[in-house]
Amino acid sequence: MSRYADFYRRSIEAPEAFWAEQAQLIDWQTPPQQILDAGNPPFVRWFAGGTTNLCHNAVDRHLAARGDQPALIAISTETGTERSYSFKELHAEVQRVAASLMELGVGKGDRVLIYMPMIPEAAFAMLACARLGAIHCVVFGGFASGSLASRIDDATPKVVVSADAGSRGGKVLAYKPLLDEAIRQSSHKPEAVLLADRGLAPMALTEGRDHLMAALVQKHRDAHVPCTWLDATDISYTIYTSGTTGRPKGVQRDTGGYAVALAASMKHIFDGRAGETYFSTSDIGWVVGHSYIVYGPLIAGMATLMYEGLPTQGMDRQPDGGIWWRLVEKYKVTVMFSAPTAVRVLKKQDAALLKKYDLSSLRALFLAGEPLDEPTARWISEGLGVPIIDNYWQTESGWPILTVANGVEQTRSKFGSPGVPMYGYKVKILHESTGEELSGANEKGVVVIEGPTPPGFMQTVWKDDERFVDTYWKTVPGKLVYSTFDWGIRDEDGYFYILGRTDDVINVAGHRLGTREIEEAISGHAKVAEVAVVGVADALKGQVAMAFVVPKDAAAASDEKTALLLEGEIMKQVADQLGALARPARVRFVSALPKTRSGKLLRRAIQAVCEERDPGDLTTIEDPGALQQIRQSLSA
Ligand code: AMP
Repeated sequence: MSRYADFYRRSIEAPEAFWAEQAQLIDWQTPPQQILDAGNPPFVRWFAGGTTNLCHNAVDRHLAARGDQPALIAISTETGTERSYSFKELHAEVQRVAASLMELGVGKGDRVLIYMPMIPEAAFAMLACARLGAIHCVVFGGFASGSLASRIDDATPKVVVSADAGSRGGKVLAYKPLLDEAIRQSSHKPEAVLLADRGLAPMALTEGRDHLMAALVQKHRDAHVPCTWLDATDISYTIYTSGTTGRPKGVQRDTGGYAVALAASMKHIFDGRAGETYFSTSDIGWVVGHSYIVYGPLIAGMATLMYEGLPTQGMDRQPDGGIWWRLVEKYKVTVMFSAPTAVRVLKKQDAALLKKYDLSSLRALFLAGEPLDEPTARWISEGLGVPIIDNYWQTESGWPILTVANGVEQTRSKFGSPGVPMYGYKVKILHESTGEELSGANEKGVVVIEGPTPPGFMQTVWKDDERFVDTYWKTVPGKLVYSTFDWGIRDEDGYFYILGRTDDVINVAGHRLGTREIEEAISGHAKVAEVAVVGVADALKGQVAMAFVVPKDAAAASDEKTALLLEGEIMKQVADQLGALARPARVRFVSALPKTRSGKLLRRAIQAVCEERDPGDLTTIEDPGALQQIRQSLSA
């Protein structure tokens, strides 16, 4: 048996012994009393009775051995700034922000919503919450007021941490007006707002509520704030993710299990070592940013590189398609993590840029978030000359479900496949309707995970255990299994291939969006009667959203000019409510949408027509002419 096969088998057959061993990778204030409690499925409690702290493991425990080594390297090609913080400096910064939050009344269990661009203060704020035992809830800075307001209402934060603005491609995006509007819309009102001022956009401060971070941090310059020891099962954070309803779910994570899962993944999967530099190009608004910009690398004693900017813009804000490779050379990055879309963007640049810099420090490039197509994988693999490691996971899992564990044993990757199940994950493929296990090679079914789920996996949906069970664990009749909502197959060697979502979630440039959320934003428009949003294959972004709208009054889109005007209004409405990311690539007008006789939208058929595929079985369609209209609207 191969070394990995044995490692995997132990994790499944003797999970307690296996994870007790992995738990040694982190510091505990009190050792765990019970490694695994799976007595109330599908809920799992890992390391109960053990007390620890994420911030202690990410920062404090490294002070003795590597206090002067870099911990956080913050680079912005948007503002042309580059700043490195040692573990000692990070320790001081985090305590200053922690003291500021305490002054605003934040303590254990309180929620702090973080709505910030990729600046070091965002990482300080996350670590400060962890230090105090407060629950952070980071909302991606590209989301707009409507998305933010619904998250404020669900998380009911005591404090919001934000900034004057973000910037993308030289374009300043003011956050403060979006935040003010969100707080105006939400029924819950945070007591205080803590604001980093980058000098990018003017801010109107609300007396008594808004505080400038610089002033509070200055006041608490010499703050000493000890870590609050938390039970392993206490909540560390929530992060919202899209599903099939218009209402995003708060994915809730524990403390001890998450710390152990990350420490183990840094060793066995990413093979990142203390003293080295990790560079993830993601954003703190996504789960990758939580696990592999902030916590994972720091827990492993690595420096983490935090990057604000496009992959094609230099420090002087001039075009530079080699900026990431320049940074790899400069900071001797050993492990890099990005998304297929970013590589497809780079593919449009001169390939010679990959050879211009000394990339000898780099051991591997990890790509995740969306399917990695073979031409993209080959192009970057040949260009960099290092292994390209596809890894498949979800916001819900917190760390990779399928990949290869080169830290355990060098394992061959196959183009097109993220790899094999990671230790701790019982991954199965089930028949869509019968729920029967498909164990043969190349049989297509739904990818599911059998409990108990490993450490780091979501505990529940924030404040809604019932929704957690109903949404994820009850999709297969008669079986309590977790559905990933992805189609997959497994080949004869046990490698999995992911074939897209089974639900109405789409993936735009590696970002997960619910088509229902976009539909809700569009149906709010006064001139819209009905709408269907589908994800359509796109050469650069993987998928883009496309909207088909039935106007209330046919005249509203009767000629090209009025249609164009209405398309613009609808796009703006989505961007204003949800953010530019969710804006459909195109809006087309039709007089009816294809539905079944029972009134269910035939999204898969619409999608197939958009992608010029066979729409499949249409026996249940109410009006075949509606599909024909979709086809015609595309060529219009
Ligand atoms: P998120 O929760 O935003 O990370 O999105 C998770 C979803 O992205 C998964 O359910 C998949 O549909 C997709 N996904 C993530 N990583 C991969 C990958 N390596 N290959 C294919 N699809 C992926």
